[in-house]
Formats: sequence, C-alpha cells, structure tokens
Amino acid sequence: MTIFQMTKTVLKSLFSRPATLMYPAKPAKKTANTRGHVEIDPAKCITCRMCQRKCPTQAICVEVKEKTWQIDQMRCVVCAVCVDACPTKCLTMDTQYRPAMTARGGLEKFTVAGPKKKEPAADAAKPADKPKE
Ligand code: SF4
Ligand code: SF4
Repeated sequence: MTIFQMTKTVLKSLFSRPATLMYPAKPAKKTANTRGHVEIDPAKCITCRMCQRKCPTQAICVEVKEKTWQIDQMRCVVCAVCVDACPTKCLTMDTQYRPAMTARGGLEKFTVAGPKKKEPAADAAKPADKPKE
C-alpha cells in the first residue's frame, strides 16, 4: 500500500461515520427476527430431549426423571435450532439480548411438566362383553 493510498484511507475514515454500532450505549435495532435469547414455557415441555439432541453447542440439558430443562447461556450461540425442533413449541426466541457476562455462569434451570400421562382408552375401561351362548 502506497503512502497516497494510506492517506486516502485515513482521511476517508476520519470523515465517515463508524461502521460499527455503539451498542450498548445506543440501543440496537430490533426486528421480528432478532435473536436475543431462548425462552421456555415449562408447562408445555414434555422432556422429549429433541432440543438437546439438535443443539450444536450442547447448551441444553434435559433430565427426564427429574423433569428439568437447563440451558447454559455461555454456550448458547442463539442459532434457534432448538426452537425449530421443539415439537410442542414451548421454546421461543425472545428479541431481548442478555446482558454481557463477565464471569463463568449463565446456567438457567427450570422444572417442567414432563411427558403427558396417557388417558385410558374409553373402550379399554369397559369390561369386554361376554359372548352369548
Ligand atoms: S439457540 Fe442454538 S445454541 Fe442456543 S440452545 Fe438453542 S440450539 Fe443450542
Ligand atoms: S423444550 Fe421442547 S424439544 Fe426440548 S425437551 Fe422440552 S418439549 Fe422436547
């Protein structure tokens, strides 16, 4: 790079607006598709573990026996794969960004509903009719 080119680049940078956003000093622009963080509705979770299997960073841990769902916010890359994979739609992508973390942590654990109990079939509840002799 010649001196002339360098001077041109420096002058251009001096008199142009910054290419980066001044977040968090200025609030970031949000759209309906902004990926802030994953939210769960614990009442709808059936502990199927689909989100855990699909998560590329192993950020989710589902304990079926304990009926818990846990996310490690430090691992989550906010890709929304878990949101798309959840069969009961209990996971959603909130548009609000999480505050920056300065120390290891970010584990969030929820007690969830767990698998739905099967209702006994109406026919199975009745005793079978005896065959007429
Ligand atoms: S958003 Fe992506 S990285 Fe975060 S928990 Fe879901 S699948 Fe894992
Ligand atoms: S959050 Fe959804 S995908 Fe994950 S275990 Fe619960 S029901 Fe299954």
